[in-house]
Amino acid sequence: MMSFDEVRPLQLTLKKYRGAGRSIGFVPTMGALHQGHLDLVARSREECDITVVSIFVNPTQFNNPEDLEKYPRTLEDDLSKLRAMDVEFVFHPPVDEIYPRELDTRKDFVFDGLDEVMEGEFRPGHFAGVAQVVNRLLDIVQPDCLFMGQKDFQQVAIIRKMLEQTTHHVKLVMCPTRREPSGLAMSSRNVRLSPSTKEKAACIFEGLSWIRSNAETLTVDQLKADFREKCQIPPFEVEYIEIAVGDTLRPVSNLSDHSYVVACAAVWADGVRLIDNMIIKDSRAL
Ligand code: AMP
Repeated sequence: MMSFDEVRPLQLTLKKYRGAGRSIGFVPTMGALHQGHLDLVARSREECDITVVSIFVNPTQFNNPEDLEKYPRTLEDDLSKLRAMDVEFVFHPPVDEIYPRELDTRKDFVFDGLDEVMEGEFRPGHFAGVAQVVNRLLDIVQPDCLFMGQKDFQQVAIIRKMLEQTTHHVKLVMCPTRREPSGLAMSSRNVRLSPSTKEKAACIFEGLSWIRSNAETLTVDQLKADFREKCQIPPFEVEYIEIAVGDTLRPVSNLSDHSYVVACAAVWADGVRLIDNMIIKDSRAL
């Protein structure tokens, strides 16, 4: 495994592989790697000849400075996990390699409202920052495939929309959410949960599963109210629970009007913000 912290040497190396006709898979991460990240890496290794993993805690996507400061950073541990998976390249740049003073990396992408709901509503500017960093990383790596997790469903929708507005020729692959045995979605933030809060946080998965199981019989309002009730146990506080059209992320009022529907939630657990989602209906033609 080769690791880089500068753009130029990484680009020169990748150019050789690209020139030799090797396909490049790319997995962008913010580090503190867990099995969810490693699933994306495994998928990239399956589908592409070489895999590049980036580890970069992107300051422009944090609307809360305390969240940025508290974000776990475990580089040595991350590198050893990636080495164990035989990843070819790791890119872990400092902030000024990604955002050099002389380069304007901010683009005015249009998200057609995808950035205004749910995470967009509660984390202003977050998706502009996500699009900025992913676009910059794609410029640098120029991969054939980009692997992202369903765990951040709205983020995948945003990046899909962004790709329509760029010249990157990249296939976006959304990989399933990896969960703890309790059902809790794996997240780098979970290390900040106490053992008892972590155990109780399974209520999020249970609430989403309830929505999926009862989607045909209960109203949207009732499903959302039931979710809130299931997660209304201290120290949890539901920030939002939304049932939305899978492509546009617009709120659904009647499930039978749509073929692709997702339930998305953000829940505060003792000062830690957890997000999760579940596709509750998908009857689209293949
Ligand atoms: P992050 O380091 O949180 O920015 O995540 C990097 C990538 O890993 C994103 O595409 C996430 O959606 C994905 N990811 C994070 N957690 C999970 C999970 N539990 N299962 C699958 N993918 C995940």
